[in-house]
Amino acid sequence: GQKVLTNLNALADEFLRLSYQSFLAKEPDFKCELKTDLATDLPQVSVIPQDIGKVLLNLINNAFYAVHEKSKSCPEGYKPEIIVSSKKTEKEIELSVQDNGPGIPDSIKEKIFQPFFTTKPTGSGTGLGLSLSYDIVKAHGGELRVWSEEGKGTIFRLHIPIS
Ligand code: ADP
Ligand code: MG
Repeated sequence: GQKVLTNLNALADEFLRLSYQSFLAKEPDFKCELKTDLATDLPQVSVIPQDIGKVLLNLINNAFYAVHEKSKSCPEGYKPEIIVSSKKTEKEIELSVQDNGPGIPDSIKEKIFQPFFTTKPTGSGTGLGLSLSYDIVKAHGGELRVWSEEGKGTIFRLHIPIS
């Protein structure tokens, strides 16, 4: 892949909708609120779009999986929600994928970026998504950070330097 100037808002929005569509194909009754809060002044950045696309898709797929799991375990009054947001700081673009799923227990937070680490049943996850995502973001000179609280949800934030 080659680096090209890319509109990360468009990429994120597209993958959010695509991911929901493919989730709905498997789980037709699943309802999730999709929200976006995308900065209107976001400059294009030089990235390998296939690679950053993989990162976004993985984070978004993980978020759908998380809220879907929670909706199965506590259907009462629970409203699944995924928020994708972007903003520009002085030197970076920040892209966040937020869910109100079960969150990540402290005991496994350290492990989630390790290759092959997964809590999903066999066949549902390879455990490679976050490790690959981390490497891709690093290769772009950026950062991938996580904030999560059990019972509240999870935010993954991608920092990409503005070239
Ligand atoms: P996989 O999705 O194949 O399990 P990943 O590397 O994408 O592999 O994720 C590793 C693990 O991190 C997941 O199995 C899950 O335990 C945890 N995880 C990732 N994203 C979330 C999320 N949004 N909410 C809760 N747990 C998550
Ligand atoms: Mg994954």
